[in-house]
Amino acid sequence: MTSSPLKLEGTPCKHPTYVIDADDRHIHCSTCGEVLSAFDVLCEVAREYGQQDGFLGKARGELAHLYHQIDEQQVALRRIRKSVNNEDKKLNRLIARRKALEGEVGKAEREHAEDTLQLKLEAFDAGSRYPTT
Ligand SMILES: [Zn+2]
Repeated sequence: MTSSPLKLEGTPCKHPTYVIDADDRHIHCSTCGEVLSAFDVLCEVAREYGQQDGFLGKARGELAHLYHQIDEQQVALRRIRKSVNNEDKKLNRLIARRKALEGEVGKAEREHAEDTLQLKLEAFDAGSRYPTT
């Protein structure tokens, strides 16, 4: 282990960053300057790469799942909208039928009332023409 001009007395170091010196063919810590094992650095790089790869793999899987869920939800929503539309048409047909029937009932009631009035008037006429007392 060589002493480094970067090394500060009493500074704790966990070597988070390093410098690859291609001329001297060694790797040293960019904080404290300690020469590091190239194999250890390579293992660390591989571990970080593996972690990133694992994250990417999981994220891609989750993304694909989300795309699939969104597609399914859109299909379900289209089905529901179509169903709502059909129910709306049914409701409108029922309302139109009710209005038509209300009209027919109103007309029939008026005609019935007129007929009843006519009968009463005729009965009154008959009563006055042929008094029973
Ligand atoms: Zn260091």
